[in-house]
Amino acid sequence: MENVYITDLYEKFHCLANQCPTSCCKGWVLPVDDETNERYEKLEGLFGRHIRFHISKIKGIRVIRRQFGRCPFLNSDKMCQFQASGHPELMPLVCRTYPRETVCFDKEARCTLVLSCPAVAKLFIENPGRRSFRLAPSKVEVFWEMNNEDDAMFAFLKEEEEKLLDFFWEKGHEMPEIWQAMYAYIYQKHDLIVRNRLEDTKEIRLSYDRKDMAEYALLKRPSYAFFKIETIDHMVLDCINYGALSIREPKFYHLIKRYLDIFGKQYLDKVDDYFDEQMRLMLEECPDAYLRYQSYFSWCMNELFFQAFENYNIIRQYLYCVLYTQLYMIFDLVDYMEKGPNRSKERLAEVLYICEQGIQHNPSLKHNLMEVIRREFL
Ligand code: SF4
Repeated sequence: MENVYITDLYEKFHCLANQCPTSCCKGWVLPVDDETNERYEKLEGLFGRHIRFHISKIKGIRVIRRQFGRCPFLNSDKMCQFQASGHPELMPLVCRTYPRETVCFDKEARCTLVLSCPAVAKLFIENPGRRSFRLAPSKVEVFWEMNNEDDAMFAFLKEEEEKLLDFFWEKGHEMPEIWQAMYAYIYQKHDLIVRNRLEDTKEIRLSYDRKDMAEYALLKRPSYAFFKIETIDHMVLDCINYGALSIREPKFYHLIKRYLDIFGKQYLDKVDDYFDEQMRLMLEECPDAYLRYQSYFSWCMNELFFQAFENYNIIRQYLYCVLYTQLYMIFDLVDYMEKGPNRSKERLAEVLYICEQGIQHNPSLKHNLMEVIRREFL
């Protein structure tokens, strides 16, 4: 694939290797792709048998069988045995590419970085702002291919993503207000797309005027609680009961406990206002945090909006971006309330990758995210 666009932070990324505070070789499910598995099948002798011994299937998916929660191919220097011995082709695709995620949309591919990696989270904190993309100077391995040849939809998504992000980064309005305007705009477009009227979407205007928002204008006042805290509560409570979270992800578990301690004391009908107020107080004291949240939402849009190329569901992809941002704000606020306004950049990065790992790598929570979106907005 020639047309691969990489994020501007792509070349700044360097794996922390044995200095990594978490390591992607521990705790996570490591799927083995067909191509790498074929290489394993061809390996002869003890070496081949040793590798194949550690491959098993979970719910029909071929994975590396972990030992004491870690990859069995991690050597005593905490390095991948395959990489250290000069055989990166024996690492499964997910290990070779992580934290880069290259998605192919028929004629073009885009490579983003995943924030659950501590090195990427640090880059994000040190380089806030809107990301740009440029052609990759060398070959990049594709992680995921979307089988769609709808050129019109591709062009539509490309144009809309740019337009939405221009609107989002324009000065003069706060994020809660911007989210509402974008919601009404995207929902109107979505309704036309599902009726196969992509051409007609050009008529719809992106603005703060309620006339332009039509029946999709939200009645509630713009608030950082775009999703009700009550619905987020259900999701978080389910998550905490999932698979011994306190042992698997103790730092994320601690953030959830703090969230429950703080928000559990509020009356249900006041809790959204409470969250909004606390956010505004925090932003007054730490104005830099606003740019961080803007950057996070924008990053999510770059990662998720284009996935509508496969499912045509632009409103769902958009709502995922808002929900992820609100969840990140909640846990970051909780950490601020515990640690105060002078948190180091290292701590800000830590909270970010803890949230990403806890949310993105928790299948129970991901399922609930969809439920939250359906219940409130679809
Ligand atoms: S999580 Fe990131 S920094 Fe840590 S070992 Fe994996 S790729 Fe390297």
